[in-house]
Amino acid sequence: MAETVQQPIQENKAAIRRAFLRSCTPRTVDIQDPLIDPIVSRGHPNPAGLGEADRFSREGSWGQSSVLFPDLASYQAADETGVSPYGGAEYGVVLTPEADAVCRKIAALHGGFGAIICPSGLSAITTTIAAFAPRALLIPDNAYPPLLRYLRYKNICVFRYPSDASAGTVSVILREARREFRAARDIMIYLEAPGSGTFEIPDISGIAALAKSNGIISVMDNTWASHVRFKPITAGIDIVIQATTKYEGGYGDTPSGVVIAAQQAGFECLVDELRISGHGAVAPTTCARLLKRIDSTEARLDAHHETALQLVAWFQSQAFVADVLSPALPGSPCHTRFNEYFGKGNGLFSVVFRPTIPASQVAAFVEALNLFWVGESWGGHVSLVLPVCVQRELTSAPKGQVLRFHAGLEDASDLQRDLEQAARASFIPVINYAI
Ligand SMILES: *Cc1c(COP(=O)(O)O)cnc(C)c1O
Repeated sequence: MAETVQQPIQENKAAIRRAFLRSCTPRTVDIQDPLIDPIVSRGHPNPAGLGEADRFSREGSWGQSSVLFPDLASYQAADETGVSPYGGAEYGVVLTPEADAVCRKIAALHGGFGAIICPSGLSAITTTIAAFAPRALLIPDNAYPPLLRYLRYKNICVFRYPSDASAGTVSVILREARREFRAARDIMIYLEAPGSGTFEIPDISGIAALAKSNGIISVMDNTWASHVRFKPITAGIDIVIQATTKYEGGYGDTPSGVVIAAQQAGFECLVDELRISGHGAVAPTTCARLLKRIDSTEARLDAHHETALQLVAWFQSQAFVADVLSPALPGSPCHTRFNEYFGKGNGLFSVVFRPTIPASQVAAFVEALNLFWVGESWGGHVSLVLPVCVQRELTSAPKGQVLRFHAGLEDASDLQRDLEQAARASFIPVINYAI
């Protein structure tokens, strides 16, 4: 066994994966076959340019920077308003007609006034913060870690609230923040739910109402849910952020983030930020793909969810598992709020290993998997696994090693067999749940 680890893993592991794939259903093979050797596909899940994406590359504006006008008057009108007569901006880098179409579609799905699109989910977050320029943010303890890094880098003051906070708890923290930052516009109340890695949920409507009654802007990162599972504007949130890289695009080939404003004033502020900063240059091919994929988001989310439920049941029956984190589970601490806001899950869940299981054994389990790839950016067709380093200041973190799983669109029984064989290979006692 020790010898196996020291061999050049690539060839060896590719052979093992190929052998495992021969036992899988066509659905799983379709997704996994091009991935067997990530060195060949350069680690990209849509190799050889492009898979599904190829269809769209012949359509659209191709991101041409010049937009042409029939006469001077129509150009002058467009230059003044920033809007071309064809849809999109007068200048073809930000807000192309494709971007415009996606923004209108997503804004309508959320019941918002309007939306902008940025080149990534993170840039959607940072563009929103830059647009409203608060000096302090209230953020949940389980917020997406790159947000914290940005706030620290930009010297924006952070007040954390517990990941599962009530509106009352947040109001105490808000009072503290306002002693230092008196003007309402200096503060932004930021939500992300279910939060990254551990999926707790605060009182979303209560916090939105608190923000409103204080004249403070509320912003919610709704990436986990997408418009299919939750429309934060209906709960009173002012600004919604969606990393459309994830479920809306669904195949990992739509790096983008959308920001939806409930009201005109917020929308105008976001559009101004985009024009001034130039941060909205998203490839029109990405927008074209996204526009069409949005229609299948619900079907894909339901498939991810069904598979995740099966895999969660398997994990729950295993002796090496201390806990499975997912707000969709009836035993989860935030399940009541989950039902109130989201109703149904997605492909994500985290597994907490018993604290007695050493990190090396958990790592061996990960290494033995054939269909779950080690990789960031969940929400695509391919199943993923990633260690979660839970860093919390206010909320208690799980005791054992934590792995976050994303159930892809492969056949659920193939994925379960893969977990079973990896558990066996890493010497974790397996209970044969499937009989
Ligand atoms: C992935 C993610 C983002 C960032 O999206 P990118 O497109 O990868 O930049 C933002 N928020 C949450 C909650 C995410 O999971």
